Amino acid sequence: MEENKSQKFDAIIVGAGPAGVAAAVTIARGGARVLLVERSEFAGTKNMIGGAVFLTALKDIFPNSWEQAPIERYINKHTWSLLTDNSSVDISCDFPYNPKSASIFRSKFDSWLVDEAKKEGVYFAPSTLVKRLIKKNGYFCGVETELEEIFADVIILADGVNSLLARQHGLRYDYETKDTVLSVKETIKLSKEIIEERFNIEKGTKNGAARNFLGGLRLENAPFALGFMYTYADSVSIGLGVNLEDLNRYGLNPSDLLERLKEHPIVKPLIQDGEMLEYSAHLIPEGGFKKLPKLCANGVILVGDAAGFINAIHFEGTNFAFASGKYAGETVLAALKIKDYSKKTLKLYEKKLKQSFVLKDLKSYKDVMENLYSRIESLMNYYPKKASEFFKIFTGANCKPKRDEFRNFIVHFIKDRSLRELLKDAWAFISSVFGVLK
Ligand SMILES: Cc1cc2nc3c(=O)[nH]c(=O)nc-3n(C[C@H](O)[C@H](O)[C@H](O)COP(=O)(O)OP(=O)(O)OC[C@H]3O[C@@H](n4cnc5c(N)ncnc54)[C@H](O)[C@@H]3O)c2cc1C
Repeated sequence: MEENKSQKFDAIIVGAGPAGVAAAVTIARGGARVLLVERSEFAGTKNMIGGAVFLTALKDIFPNSWEQAPIERYINKHTWSLLTDNSSVDISCDFPYNPKSASIFRSKFDSWLVDEAKKEGVYFAPSTLVKRLIKKNGYFCGVETELEEIFADVIILADGVNSLLARQHGLRYDYETKDTVLSVKETIKLSKEIIEERFNIEKGTKNGAARNFLGGLRLENAPFALGFMYTYADSVSIGLGVNLEDLNRYGLNPSDLLERLKEHPIVKPLIQDGEMLEYSAHLIPEGGFKKLPKLCANGVILVGDAAGFINAIHFEGTNFAFASGKYAGETVLAALKIKDYSKKTLKLYEKKLKQSFVLKDLKSYKDVMENLYSRIESLMNYYPKKASEFFKIFTGANCKPKRDEFRNFIVHFIKDRSLRELLKDAWAFISSVFGVLK
């Protein structure tokens, strides 16, 4: 442990990702003694993102220093592509002057977060694996590492998606395969100039692009897989996330699926002649609102991925992590003030989450993933194909009357799929939209 040998803190935070750091700085700013424990030698070495960090949440935690964060590119161009076997229908948006997210490498970014936290008085213990929590008289009151026991009034679990500690102590059940996505990603080196040219980025700027892909895996039984690409300064990431249950059901290997995406005729030219720098894989918790763990108990609070705070539809996780860390920090300060670390007092954390976008979003999106999974074939094959056929007519000038072509398109749209299936698709879509808006 750096800087301090004393073994009693006001709060101990396990895990130095965005959630842990946000909690730690919030508590330190309130004048309390806080220890941030991280199993890796450098924060971020074992962490993964697609990925872009969301700037509103980052600015909220570090309003004065966020611009010094090791940002690779500001993501101001987003493209969503419906892929068929050999074509793509895209929706794009470009916000050149107001980027909302930025691509980062976790190893650099998380280390920067920790350096900022240390400047604010947080004690940092790297290379320290917490093996279990210490519980006395019904209260969590410390952590046991490989070397020692360290005590605190409150423990915050910010130890990420697996959160062995929460599971060990009955705060969270094991995620089921249907609630968990395995994401695989490659980082591919390309020159700045090539990235600017292929992603239509203004030369010499720190602007960047993100692409998301649905379909295009060229499999009869394609699983529900969302593909992604992000530009960095002189490399790009390409990856996809697939539900673990689908992988088992179809006997698929995620690396093979990623190869299929990379070989797609629309995707391949984007990464051509690139050199693979890194391959990584990580789990994402997608149980959402229906699978929330116990968010607090006597002397303990769960934040970020450890609590399952992810909105997969929007690729959001870091914003939930920063925000939940901050609310947990504020709750700990309130508890320290009255010297009461009971679940009853720590419930303030849940109240803050409920009043914020964190639980509001998780609640309103609670059925969306399930609805999408129930329509896998439609999403992965049927609609990308139909969108492509529609735009072939729209842009084709095929020397046939448009009226005949569009009529033919509509007849086949209904004929190729039973009315029952179309109604099911429509219901899944409408109930998802209403769920989010209600
Ligand atoms: C492929 C992929 C793409 C993603 N893309 C995006 C994106 O584009 N935008 C976005 O906002 N989010 C994205 N996410 C989600 C985002 O990465 C997470 O939501 C976020 O990192 C959660 O932060 P956290 O602090 O809760 O957990 P983590 O970042 O996972 O940090 C947990 C920390 O705890 C440490 N730890 C674990 N166990 C122990 C222990 N026992 N003792 C000590 N330390 C321990 C770990 O080493 C780690 O540093 C993506 C995730 C994946 C996997």
